[in-house]
Amino acid sequence: MEQTMFNPDMESLSPKEQQKMEKNLLLEQMDYVYAHSKMYQDKFATAGIKKEKIKNVQDLTLLPFTTKQELRDSQKRQAPFGDFLAAPSMEVSRVHRTSGTTGSFIYTALTKKDLAQTHDCGARAFWSAGLRPHHRVIHCLNYCMWMGGYTDHANLEATGATVIPFGVGNAKQLIQVIKDAGINAISSTPSYPKHLEKIIKAEFNMDPSELGLELGLFGGEPGLDNPVFRNRMETTWGMKAQNANYGVSDVLCNFASVCPDNYKLHFLGQGALLVQLVDPMTLEDIPIREGAIGEMVLTHLKKEAQPLVRYRTSDLMEILGTDPCECGRTGFRFQIVGRSDDMLHVKGINVFPNGVAMVLEDLVPEVTGEFQIILSHPSPYTHLDIRVEYGHEIPLNKMTDLKVKIETKIKENLNFRGVVDLVKPDSIERTKMGKARRVIRNYE
Ligand SMILES: [Zn+2]
Repeated sequence: MEQTMFNPDMESLSPKEQQKMEKNLLLEQMDYVYAHSKMYQDKFATAGIKKEKIKNVQDLTLLPFTTKQELRDSQKRQAPFGDFLAAPSMEVSRVHRTSGTTGSFIYTALTKKDLAQTHDCGARAFWSAGLRPHHRVIHCLNYCMWMGGYTDHANLEATGATVIPFGVGNAKQLIQVIKDAGINAISSTPSYPKHLEKIIKAEFNMDPSELGLELGLFGGEPGLDNPVFRNRMETTWGMKAQNANYGVSDVLCNFASVCPDNYKLHFLGQGALLVQLVDPMTLEDIPIREGAIGEMVLTHLKKEAQPLVRYRTSDLMEILGTDPCECGRTGFRFQIVGRSDDMLHVKGINVFPNGVAMVLEDLVPEVTGEFQIILSHPSPYTHLDIRVEYGHEIPLNKMTDLKVKIETKIKENLNFRGVVDLVKPDSIERTKMGKARRVIRNYE
C-alpha cells in the first residue's frame, strides 16, 4: 500500500493525543527555557512569572509575547545569535539569516537536533503535496544564507526524492537542465514559472508542458490560493501546482502544505510547534476553531538553539477546518489572510489588502492587478479609497463601467465599500521586489 504520510505517527494524532503530547513537551521545553535562555529569564522575572506557574498549555497566556524587535535587540546585545541562544554555541550546526534591510535581519541558529526536526516537518509538507522518492526535483530558491535555499533543499531530500540544487538566476541553463536531466518536479516561488515561460518560448521554441514536469512545489509568496492563477499554471505547464511550503523563517522553515484531497494548508508541525491565535488589537487569545481569524503566535515545543515562547508572527491566520481531512491528516487547515499590520476595520468588517488583490486578479487584463489603499486618516473607516491601475487595452469611454464593475465586485466579495480611482497602467510605484506598497497612510 502506498505510504500517504511521511510521519503518520505525528500527522494523524487524535486531538486528545496531540494535547497530551503538547502539554508534556511544553513543560519540558519551559524547564529548558527557564534554565538556559538569558533573554527569557529576564523577561519572565520582569513579568513576575515563576516556572511553577506554568502547569499546562493554558498557562502560557500568563507569559509575555516575544516580538521580532526583541530578537533584533537581543542580537545587538549579544552578537551574533543573541541572548536567547539557549544551547552552547559550539553545538550550533547551521546558521541562516533572514532577509531584511541592514540591521533588521536575524541570525537563526540550529543544532543537529533542531535540524532533524526541521527536516522531518519539511518532509511531511512536501510528501503531503505529492513528492515521492521517484521524483527528481530541481530546487530554485535563493541559497545565499536564506532558509528557503539550503534547508528547504534538505527538507526535499528527506522525503527520499533526488534533489538538484539550482538556486535563482540563470534561467536558460535551468531550462536546459530540466530538459536534459530527467527532472520531473520543480520547487520555487509561485511567480517564477511565469518568468520562465517567455524564455522557454524565445530560446527553446517549446511550450512549458513539453518539459515533462509533473509536480510544482511552491512557497514564499501568496498567489496559489487563487484558482484562476493556479489553473492557468497547471494548464500551461501540464503539472500539478501545489502550495507546499509555508513556514516562518525565525521559527520553523516549513510546517504546512496542501494535500491531494484538499487545497488548504494543513498544519504539519506537530511536536515542534504550538500554535495559538490572538486578536491583534486586544491581544486576547482566540480559540482555534473553524472560522477563527487572528494573529498566529508560535511557541517551540522542542528547540535547543533559539527557543521562542509566544512569538508574534504578524501573520494573520484564518482557521478553515479542524476535523480530520480525507487524507487522514488531523492537523487543522488554515490560510494566511494578511499581515496584522495591514488589517483595516471598515464598519466592523476586517479588510485585508490580500482580499482586494484576489478580486483584482480575477479582473486581469481589464486591470493590471496593482493597486493601493489610500488612508487619509486613522481608523475607523466607513469606506476605503483604492487606487487601481486599469489594463493597457481599456479605451477611455469604458472607464466608468470598469470603476463600477470593480466597486461592485469588492462589495460582493469583501463586504465593504471601496471607492475606486482608476490610474494609468504602471503608474503606481513598485518596490524592488516588483510589487506596489498596498497601504499608504497619508497622515501623521
Ligand atoms: Zn488533507
